[in-house]
Amino acid sequence: MQQYDIVIVGAGMAGASLACALAGNGLRIALLDNRAPQMDPEPLKATEFDARVSAITPASQAILERMSVWPSIRAQRISPYTGMEVWEADGTAGINFTAEEVHAPLLGHIIENRVIVQALQQRIAALDDVDLLAPVQFEGFHYIPQSDCERSLQVRIKDAEAINAKLLVAADGGRSQLRRLAGFRTREWDYAHQAVVTTVRTEKPHGQVARQRFSDEGVLAFLPLQTTAEIGAENYCSIVWSLRPERAEAVQALSDEAFARALEQAFESRLGRIEHCSPRLSFPLHQVHARDYVKDRVVLIGDAAHSIHPLAGQGANLGLLDAHVLAAEIIAARRKGRCWYEGRVLRAYQRRRKGHNLAMMAAMEGFRRLYDDQPLPLRWLRNTGMRAVDGAPMIKQYIMREAMALEHLD
Ligand SMILES: Cc1cc2nc3c(=O)[nH]c(=O)nc-3n(C[C@H](O)[C@H](O)[C@H](O)COP(=O)(O)OP(=O)(O)OC[C@H]3O[C@@H](n4cnc5c(N)ncnc54)[C@H](O)[C@@H]3O)c2cc1C
Repeated sequence: MQQYDIVIVGAGMAGASLACALAGNGLRIALLDNRAPQMDPEPLKATEFDARVSAITPASQAILERMSVWPSIRAQRISPYTGMEVWEADGTAGINFTAEEVHAPLLGHIIENRVIVQALQQRIAALDDVDLLAPVQFEGFHYIPQSDCERSLQVRIKDAEAINAKLLVAADGGRSQLRRLAGFRTREWDYAHQAVVTTVRTEKPHGQVARQRFSDEGVLAFLPLQTTAEIGAENYCSIVWSLRPERAEAVQALSDEAFARALEQAFESRLGRIEHCSPRLSFPLHQVHARDYVKDRVVLIGDAAHSIHPLAGQGANLGLLDAHVLAAEIIAARRKGRCWYEGRVLRAYQRRRKGHNLAMMAAMEGFRRLYDDQPLPLRWLRNTGMRAVDGAPMIKQYIMREAMALEHLD
């Protein structure tokens, strides 16, 4: 039976980045995923984008740089954004954020999820101490006593031999099977909203600005994508449109042409006509937060610990920070000659990450309540609040620095 130090279930952004961050420290790591690895991707086509993209903060960029995966991400396709416009559909209020205000060259990059995952998995293929086992289906685990006070874990894989580990990490996403099997308790908020996502070509260039329009109906985000100059380098955007299920279904049933017109109207034609829409996908939205991230040698990271409303544009970023902090705690404990998988070390990870994740989720819950069928006085308040923030440089700088997350990195 194969003996590993750490088995990570899930080779998405969180799991794959944890494996990269732990590599080179004398640990044997297995990374399992039920999807085939994406080692030799087809070259990206100029007008075809992954429908799932993430707004990657400078803190996440720094993490990816430390793992030596940023150059290959940048070589594929990234789209820097230097401004953000957020506005109210009902009123006249809005907030504009610019990189200049925080003396930074940019606020972040919009990157297709597949580009990040491919770069991480390619890096892993070059590592001697990480085995990527994919596609395999994780089925379950149990504890096996080794001595009076030592136990290890046996991980069952469908149609394959079981493997042993000292520590098991759940990075298997928002519906984590490992989280459920290990008996972690969660707090869940169902938003009764669906996110409709697609890529669109717009008449006017986006100018490297991410835009979000808030209304009682939901939030509509246009995230700038970068492509070749011949086809309009700044005329593509990834959109995330969060809507109530019945409205999302109606929108999904529209022809491409009718969908483009509905989108144009909802976006107040800020980028002119919508000239083309790619196939649409839809995701149910709910927030899940595990009450604890650590239990009997099982640790949760990424969406397995917290799946957050996409309006924050933070899910992937929080997962990368989890991976970075967990790896840092384990490596520091090993260097001090301590038992790196004991509860004290793992709880230090939980202490460092839970507050930040919880604060982000609470902020999203607050936003949702502000926009959920509110009576007139509250609408007025929210409008006035937005205008007040736009006129207060200190508050704006604080919000931007929080969104860039640099202070959560050491
Ligand atoms: C519409 C939308 C827009 C978003 N926009 C942003 C954004 O702008 N910025 C941002 O930071 N975040 C964004 N997010 C969130 C972000 O996409 C997620 O937080 C991130 O992808 C989660 O990464 P993860 O690695 O934790 O989980 P996942 O990406 O879900 O990866 C889990 C992996 O585990 C594997 N797996 C699951 N079960 C098993 C099993 N039993 N056996 C083996 N393997 C298994 C899966 O195949 C998968 O590869 C958005 C999300 C949505 C829905």
